[in-house]
Amino acid sequence: MKRISHWVDGKVIEGTSGRQGVVWNPATGVQQAAVDLASTAELDAAVAVAKAAQPAWRATGLSRRAEIMFRFRDLIDANRKEIASLVTAEHGKVLSDALGEVARGLENVEYATGIPNLLKGGFTEQAATGVDVYSIRQPLGVVAGITPFNFPAMVPLWMLANAIACGNTFILKPSEKDPSTALFLAELFAQAGLPAGVFNVVNGDKEAVDAILHNPDIAAVSFVGSTPIARYIYETGTQQGKRVQALGGAKNHMLVLPDADLDMAADAVVSAAYGSAGERCMALSVILAMDSVADQLIAKVTERIPAITVGPGTEPDSEMGPLITAEHRDKVAGYVAGASAEGATVVVDGTTDLPGGDGFFLKPSLIDDVKPGMACYDEEIFGPVLAVTRISSYDEGLQLINDNPFGNGVALFTRDGGVARQFQFDVQVGMVGINVPIPVPVSYYSFGGWKASLFGDQHMYGPEGINFFTRSKVVTSRWPDPATSSVDLGFPENR
Ligand code: NAD
Repeated sequence: MKRISHWVDGKVIEGTSGRQGVVWNPATGVQQAAVDLASTAELDAAVAVAKAAQPAWRATGLSRRAEIMFRFRDLIDANRKEIASLVTAEHGKVLSDALGEVARGLENVEYATGIPNLLKGGFTEQAATGVDVYSIRQPLGVVAGITPFNFPAMVPLWMLANAIACGNTFILKPSEKDPSTALFLAELFAQAGLPAGVFNVVNGDKEAVDAILHNPDIAAVSFVGSTPIARYIYETGTQQGKRVQALGGAKNHMLVLPDADLDMAADAVVSAAYGSAGERCMALSVILAMDSVADQLIAKVTERIPAITVGPGTEPDSEMGPLITAEHRDKVAGYVAGASAEGATVVVDGTTDLPGGDGFFLKPSLIDDVKPGMACYDEEIFGPVLAVTRISSYDEGLQLINDNPFGNGVALFTRDGGVARQFQFDVQVGMVGINVPIPVPVSYYSFGGWKASLFGDQHMYGPEGINFFTRSKVVTSRWPDPATSSVDLGFPENR
């Protein structure tokens, strides 16, 4: 059985806790590896390594840090297929989707190559006579990232490139369900010239997470995962005096107005609901369809579903792979099974006639007549299940979106620019797509939802990522000029 261990101080370190987790092959349902789960002592030892490495890394010149980022960028680019294969093997998503994930992660390394520019401060000459004031941004020290299973390459790259370029050292605790990609990224980073101890990967479960939250040498925690755990990370981490950004789950709506191009809307929603088997925090999971076009739109979505090829992510023809575990597949199937009893209409049942073998497959499901109060509306399903809620007005649709406890992503499909502009003004969601189904911001903006989709003040990556991983210092300076020196006990005024 393949064993997956930790990466600390520039090398692979085998775990000593005696505890291991199962890494499945979701396409076959067979265990493919065992991952070492760190104890508190092992996590603390890795933090000690990162702490020892931080002063020298922080003192490393910005052009050298940028040079390492450029090399890391080139190595990821050269190894796209290898990284995507690791993602597919453990997560199950199809290779083309995994390649897309790598490309979106790579953007963040490209952003971090601009670190000399990103860390530029402000300077005010002659704030008072002979006095200059300037601001600088400095790293926090040792910081940690805790990441979910659904983007084993992209989400770690959201955090670690900026954090490290800023001069921090980093502890990554990837999802124990698909841990290999993080270890490969660590190897590439080392090849790029990153000094040992600057980037460390500690595999584990709740014990390692709690050790991160309670280790006094970790200054900040960046988390992406489900809402209950995000809330826990935020509350526990901030109680321990840490800076925390914790991104949670989602229930992303698509509002389709009668003037929209319905074929384009149907293509978009089918892609965004069923891509990656719905295991994306930006997946569309509810269509808000205006009564006047609902039947037409549902017919167009329904006719597209049978054309989706479900199969192992490694097969070139597959468009949708398996879910992450048997347990998760059963949970998702439960929403479809329970929908009729709640008064909804199952238009397409994707829980039967599944691909052969023991893989964790489901096919796409479509449920109509879904209303708030039903489990398939109220809860994040995180699988290939799309709900339709019929509405009679734009205002009703907007109200449903704004009443939802989540606020990660939303999409509006319309040809009316005025309505679109009003929508972007009114909607209480952090990432808005106008005729764009999955509005994941480019790396030079920042990613983050509102409400129960994010706990903390700073969004992930981009300018807010740089702010999150640094703190600002303002220096007020005066150089001695004996001609103007005198004793003055008054409060210094700017004159
Ligand atoms: P998860 O919350 O189960 O796990 C995330 C991380 O937390 C993992 O590293 C895991 O080991 C750890 N963890 C799990 N249970 C824990 C516990 N009880 N105590 C401490 N740590 C714990 O999430 P997941 O199932 O891996 O990922 C799917 C979820 O992530 C979905 O809810 C999805 O919407 C969300 N997600 C959100 C975003 C975003 O940007 N908002 C992006 C991707 C995924």
